[in-house]
Order: sequence, then C-alpha cells, then structure tokens
Amino acid sequence: MTDYEKLANLIFPDINLTIDDLEKRYPKRDLKEGAIVDRFAPSPTGFLHSGSLFTALVGYKFALQTGGVFMLRLEDTDTKREIEGSGEKLLTEMKEFGVVPMEGYFGTYEEGSYGPYCQSDRALIYNTVIKDMIRRGLAYPCFCSHEDLDALRKTQEEKKENPGYYGEYAKCSHLIPSEAIKKIENGESYIIRFRSTGNHLNKIHVHDLIKGDLDLSENDQHIVILKSDGLPTYHFAHLCDDHFMRTTIVMRGEEWLSSLPIHYELFNTLGFELPKYAHLPVIMKQDNGKRRKLSKRLDQEAAVSYFLERGYSRDAIVEYLFTLANSNFEEWRLSHMNDNIYDFDFSFEKFNVDGALFDLDKINDISKERLSRLSKEEFTVKALEYANKYDHNLKDLIERDRDYFMSIINIEREKENPRKDYVKFEDVFDFIKFFYKDYYDEILSNGLEFNEKFNKGKIKEVLLTHLCSLDLTQDEQTWFQTMKDTMESLGFAPNKKELRDNPNKYIGTIGDASEIIRVALTGRKSSPNLYYVEKILTNSEIRRRFENVIK
Ligand code: GLU
Repeated sequence: MTDYEKLANLIFPDINLTIDDLEKRYPKRDLKEGAIVDRFAPSPTGFLHSGSLFTALVGYKFALQTGGVFMLRLEDTDTKREIEGSGEKLLTEMKEFGVVPMEGYFGTYEEGSYGPYCQSDRALIYNTVIKDMIRRGLAYPCFCSHEDLDALRKTQEEKKENPGYYGEYAKCSHLIPSEAIKKIENGESYIIRFRSTGNHLNKIHVHDLIKGDLDLSENDQHIVILKSDGLPTYHFAHLCDDHFMRTTIVMRGEEWLSSLPIHYELFNTLGFELPKYAHLPVIMKQDNGKRRKLSKRLDQEAAVSYFLERGYSRDAIVEYLFTLANSNFEEWRLSHMNDNIYDFDFSFEKFNVDGALFDLDKINDISKERLSRLSKEEFTVKALEYANKYDHNLKDLIERDRDYFMSIINIEREKENPRKDYVKFEDVFDFIKFFYKDYYDEILSNGLEFNEKFNKGKIKEVLLTHLCSLDLTQDEQTWFQTMKDTMESLGFAPNKKELRDNPNKYIGTIGDASEIIRVALTGRKSSPNLYYVEKILTNSEIRRRFENVIK
C-alpha cells in the first residue's frame, strides 16, 4: 500500500466504493440524439429570485423541446445560510409558473435514478471521489489555520501578488503523505484541498453556448473541496453531481463564469467529460438612468412572490421571460398571439448576451394583454384561485354571485380586441366594487366628485333626463343616440366640434354629460363602457342610485 493510499484510508476509513462503482451506478442516460439534460440547482437560502426563475425556465424549456430531462437539485451544503422550508417554497413557486421538474427533489420525496438530489444526502459520492483523489495525489489535507491564511493574505498584499492558496504558497501541498498522516494522528484539524497544476499565465479555451468562445486564465488555486464540517464546496459538489447525474448542459447565472477555469481543471483532472456550459445573462434593472443588477435587497420584483401576491398573469411572467431569453421571440409572438408560447423553439444563438433588462412596464403590458384574452370562465377561475390566497374582498364578491361577477368582468371581453382593464388580479376588486350595492353606498357616503363646471341643478337635470329616456333594451348605438339627443336639449353638444363652433349655444359636450352619469353610477370618472355598466346594474338600481345622489 502506498503512503497516499494510507492517507486516503486514514481520512475515509469507511469508504469502500470506487469511482468505477459510481460510474456503473449512474450510467450514461439513454436519450435520443440532441436531448438536453439540465438541472436547476438552487440553494435553499430564501425565496425564488426572478433571475432564478429565468434560469429554471430556460433549462426546462430546452429539456422539453429536445426530449431531455430537467431536474431539480437542492444545493444545501451551506448550512449557515440555509432557511428552513425554503427548498419546498422554491419548488412550489417554480410550479406556480408551470416550471415543473421531471426528476429530482420534490420536497417530501425524490424522483429519478440519479439521486439523491439533495447535496446533503450525497456525502457517500463526494467522499468516494475525494478518497480516490487523495489516493492519486490529486487532493490533500490542509492544516492551515485561519491565522495562517490571514498571514498569507497579508504577505501577498505586501508583495502585490495574486491572493490565494496556490503554487509556492500552497504550504500543505508540499507535505509528503507520511507528514500529513502524522498530523492527523496527532489530532490536528484539516480540510481537503484540490491540488491544482495550473498556471494563471496560461490560457484555457472554452466555448460557452451563450457567451461564445472564451479565453480564460488557467486556474492555479488549490481550492477547498471538503470543508471542516464534512460538506463539499460548490465547485467540487457541482463536479460530482453534474458528472454522475449525467448533466449535458450546465445552465446557470453568469456570475459563475469566473469560476469556470476551476471547473475546467477539476473535470479534466478527474478525466470526466466536461459538460457544455451556458451562462445566462444577469437580470438587470434601469435605475436612475443606470443599469444595475436586480437586487434582492432593493427591488421587490426580484422575488417571484411579488408577482404571485399581486395576481399577475403567471403566463405573462413566463412570456416576459421568453422575451428576455430569445431576441426573436417577440416577433414570433406577434404572429402567434393566441398560441402556446412553448411552441416557440429556443436557441442558444438567439440569446441576449449582455445583461437582460427587467422592465416592469413591459410585464404590466403583457399581463394586461394576457388577462384580457382569457374567457370569462377562465378569468373567474383564476381570479378566485388568486383571491382564495391573497384577496378576501375579491373572494367575497365572486362567491356572492358568480354569474354576476362574470357578467361584470365580461364587459367587452371575448372579442377580437378585448378591453384591457386589469394588469393583475389585485386590481379587480377596486375596479368593480361599485357594481355591488353595499360598496357603492359606501362610495356615495364618502361623497362624489362631479365636474365643478356644472351646478347641482344641472347635475340633477342630467340624471333625471337620462333616467326618463333610458331604455336598456336598445342596442348600444341606439342607446348612445338617445343619450346624445336628450343631452343636446340640456345644452350638451353631440361632439367637441359642435361646441367649438357654437360656444354660446352649448355648455359642454356629450362627454361631460356622460361623465356626470358615470360619476353618479360608479363614483369614478373612468369605468368600463357605460352602456354595459347600466345593463348590468339594471333600471331599478340606476334609479336607486340617482335618487340617492340627488338626495
Ligand atoms: N447553488 C448555486 C446557486 O444557487 C447553483 C449554481 C449552478 O446552477 O451551478 O447559484
């Protein structure tokens, strides 16, 4: 037995598996040519970030489109930052946007033959690989204390050298195995480092599917692969996981690009085939004319819960993320407005290379558009689903009388160019509450704001005249004509031009008259089409409201 083997056995006495065993246990996947195997690998350290949803969505879409696999792996090795329950929360939030893993971590259970899918359950795999590395001299125990490392940093700063544990500075890499064995037997604490053979003056050449060809400085850092708590670091865990889970493309945020040389060396050293990499653009925000990263701390919309709690169309958020992903998507969408967006094929070539700008106005527009295109039944089901969780007032309105609710939200819906009244379900309650007697009475008791140009007498005259001539069996055009005729007799011109041409004859336009009616009926200066509002309210309620206003 060599000294390296003795050292490996001393550190991992219970590990009897070999890398070969693992290779057999996790065989290459039998998938059709071109099928992409991707994983979404969040850390359970909080909420689902909008940028992470983007990453997950892109991986999911590519897997779907190529007949591949999209798996969820929980990277829970940073126990200090872990937040209880956030793994399940991340999963739930992804699912809300239709991004459902095909394999991996599902909260209370796992699915798939490449698990375990939580890193904290994969110690056997990591330790097997590390034991093999120590045996081959590719990794070694490092006994440097925090103080040693601080002193090293200072020396390097003084000498203006690159910081880190590398080359000559990698003190413990120079220990021969028998010295390391002695230290361990003496009870000295240690971590495990990777023995890099790189030189940062050399370049490596890698191709990123989004960023293109890259020349990066070779890694020379003897990075930590196993921490003192017995858990692996991200770099090392990702090597083992993506290799034995047979990931074909690692899609992850651009912030990992700078670590790529480390990963490149790790894969090569172990003789594992390097997966393909696609580093996705960071989501940016325009702030006071400057671009910056969408920030957990500064931007509420950085958490996907922002959109869920406000009742945005979840399809719209997904659609928006499609526009961020591929530059040719929007054009496709224009000619496929009612199609399933998943019919659009993603390609890496069409990715935005620079930071993608997160534009809330655009999200609002898309959400408005999507909500307007729902049938009244779909809208009601989704609104109720939202209301059940987040909006008791809205829930109450829908449950009072579902048909009445549907008739309200169906105003000028289900047609070629539907009305776009709602950006999100959060807007619905305030927008429609005037249709309900109790809420209307509350609005009225707070006072109505009519145009000050018209005195009380005129307002009363308008309301009574309208009421007398009102016939809701008329079609919209006839109804409007009747209104124009009757209002003209009260001094309201049928249009702006007439008023301009005859300033002495008229006191306002039909627009002013209908505003008076609208304010009296709804408490607001803008509302959906008055004709439909009146039809829904019916004659008796209109009369009741007018009488109360006049009172
Ligand atoms: N756990 C890492 C993160 O949350 C994953 C990066 C990766 O996808 O490889 O950023």
